[in-house]
Amino acid sequence: MEIYLDNSATTRVAPEVAKLVHHVMCEDYGNPSSMHRKGLEAERHVKRAAETLAEIMKVKPAELVFTSCGTESDNLALIGCALANQRAGRHIITTQIEHPAVKNAAAYLEEQGFRVTYLPVDETGSVRVEEFAGAVCDDTILASVMYVNNEIGTVQPVEALAAALHEKRQDALFHTDAVQAFGKYRIYPSRMGIDLLSISGHKIHAPKGIGALYVRSGVKIRPILFGGGQQNGLRSGTHNVSGIAGLGEAAALAYRNMEEDTKRLYALRAHFIAGISQIEGTHINGAPKEAGAPHIVSVSFDGIDRAEVLLHALEERGIYVSAGSACASNKPGISATLKGIGLDKKLLTATLRFSFSVYTTQEELDTAISALRELLPFYRRFTRR
Ligand code: PLP
Repeated sequence: MEIYLDNSATTRVAPEVAKLVHHVMCEDYGNPSSMHRKGLEAERHVKRAAETLAEIMKVKPAELVFTSCGTESDNLALIGCALANQRAGRHIITTQIEHPAVKNAAAYLEEQGFRVTYLPVDETGSVRVEEFAGAVCDDTILASVMYVNNEIGTVQPVEALAAALHEKRQDALFHTDAVQAFGKYRIYPSRMGIDLLSISGHKIHAPKGIGALYVRSGVKIRPILFGGGQQNGLRSGTHNVSGIAGLGEAAALAYRNMEEDTKRLYALRAHFIAGISQIEGTHINGAPKEAGAPHIVSVSFDGIDRAEVLLHALEERGIYVSAGSACASNKPGISATLKGIGLDKKLLTATLRFSFSVYTTQEELDTAISALRELLPFYRRFTRR
């Protein structure tokens, strides 16, 4: 038995996607920059994927840059925009609960002399719009706020935040890391005031090693990779054609029945939360109901010293979950997100994340709940008081 509840770390590749990726790797394997027919064949896959993503987000295909992952998309957005716009100012706004791909890019920019404001969040993990607006200065050039938090699933009011930024600083750029949101929500960057948006393939049943960044046309951005000048000079390096094709196919699949799938995920989430809440000493973190993403549930357990122990006990039963934000590294550490929402100190290391996908079933969730119900009393006996 294998119950995979770690879909925010990564997802299984969809069979349709794997089939296309295999075909591109073994048949249409040309380099899109080549001038012959094999090149053209490959270029068609790149073009089709860009058109698919553009159609989903109602943007232009030329506004998409393919990258190697969500991390690269975030790095390109922050570092590329900061460097290209530094004459207009050197202030950047972000939050205390961003993924390290944003947080560490911001830290790098601080080393380069930029000023960064890291906004706190409320107890549900949400950025307060007024506080954000208050942080916008005369020299603010960029703000980056994640769409969905990867650890607790809080959905940020990105549209309101982008409006607040542009009201005070018309030319400042708004970036959102939508790695955990893309495929779960209809996201229309141009209507929502989003200038840059990051996505990652492996969170939506495409392979690892492929991401994309939406860059609104007219946005000034500098490349962070230098080489052959592919993708209009913005991202040198031979296109990962099979990955790009896979991302396009996975995105099309995710949006084919998006509303129905999301509804089903919300029902699963509600079922899981109801079941877990019946176990004594459990706390659900993040935003309630639909203010939280449909696929992420963060749970803290009273009387547990280290969540990793529970994680491995579940693993013994074929149930895979994550402690803190394991998509960032396999080193356990104190989560800035859990700290940011003011979680009780004792619970900071006693928290597991359960994350679902379209393949998750109610039976799997029931099995996980029963396992926890059995395991918790045993492990709680060994906890230091
Ligand atoms: N941003 C968020 C919110 C994530 O959850 C992740 C996942 O790990 C990333 C960025 C990084 O994406 P990738 O693993 O494709 O580099």
